[in-house]
Amino acid sequence: EVKKKGKNGFQYFSAELNDKLQSKIELEGDLRKAVELNELELYYQPQIRAEDERMIGIEALVRWNHPTKGVLSPGIFIPIAEETGIIYELGTWVLREACRQMRKWHLAGGPLIPVSVNLSSQQFHQPYLADYVKDILRETGLEPHFLELEITESMMMDASVSTAILNQLNEFGVRISLDDFGTGYSSLSYLKMFPIHKVKIDRSFIRDITENDNDKAIVSTIISMAQHLNMEVIAEGIETKAQLDILTDKDCEKIQGYYFSRPLSAIDVEEEFFIPGRQEKTAFHS
Ligand code: C2E
Ligand code: MG
Ligand code: MG
Ligand code: MG
Repeated sequence: EVKKKGKNGFQYFSAELNDKLQSKIELEGDLRKAVELNELELYYQPQIRAEDERMIGIEALVRWNHPTKGVLSPGIFIPIAEETGIIYELGTWVLREACRQMRKWHLAGGPLIPVSVNLSSQQFHQPYLADYVKDILRETGLEPHFLELEITESMMMDASVSTAILNQLNEFGVRISLDDFGTGYSSLSYLKMFPIHKVKIDRSFIRDITENDNDKAIVSTIISMAQHLNMEVIAEGIETKAQLDILTDKDCEKIQGYYFSRPLSAIDVEEEFFIPGRQEKTAFHS
């Protein structure tokens, strides 16, 4: 009996594990080819100035149009890309594509706003990151101050490495934004050491902000900290008018979230925000 139970238990576990492993291996193989096969696509989510609902920036968010599995979100494949080293090629593609698209929009008469690009920890720690960012900017023609790189607090823990990289990027004119702020391990003293232009308050503090006083207090503190350090501050994940009202009440001028817009394909960005006559919805001139 013991033997049978054990055997069944083992088989069940093993089959499940095997499935997971199998699909991961499959995805990994597919992901290696995805860049080459042009299956990756950037979506863009507007960042809005609450006061007049103008777009003040736009964040590039990668999607994978998988040939059989449909559209996959970065939460599924970025971790695989990081584990396998595919992230370098993928990250380079994202950076180049975001810069190319933004430059194209600028030339087409779109607003002169920056594009934000998420970096993985591994990319951030590449020895020649600053040089290759420069190369991509030169190649695409995008001016450095129209590129904003999003990093997280945990990436700055190795202070000596981070200082060198961030100073190089800063001297070149690229902007740095701290993503998911408040969720990572961070030392507040790092904030004054590094050239950080913008702090993004993580969505987890916004979700329950209408009823949770602790979240309210944390958000207020981040906003005033950013103001004192002369950094811009933006709140992520605004989904409702009630959340927006609390944030504007607390002097948070910049907002990103489904309430204003979900991430859109490049074509939808143009349709929603470029077509004359629709500009009053959320203006597309800065
Ligand atoms: P993130 O950089 O913090 O991006 C914000 C995520 O929140 C996006 O999910 C966005 O679609 C979602 N979001 C925005 N507004 C709302 C809202 O109002 N409510 C809710 N529930 N969600 C909202 P997405 O696109 O699935 O990306 C997830 C994460 O994947 C990103 O978090 C970022 O860390 C990573 N990621 C995305 N694109 C890239 C990339 O090109 N490179 C790297 N390294 N990471 C990326
Ligand atoms: Mg981000
Ligand atoms: Mg992020
Ligand atoms: Mg975030």
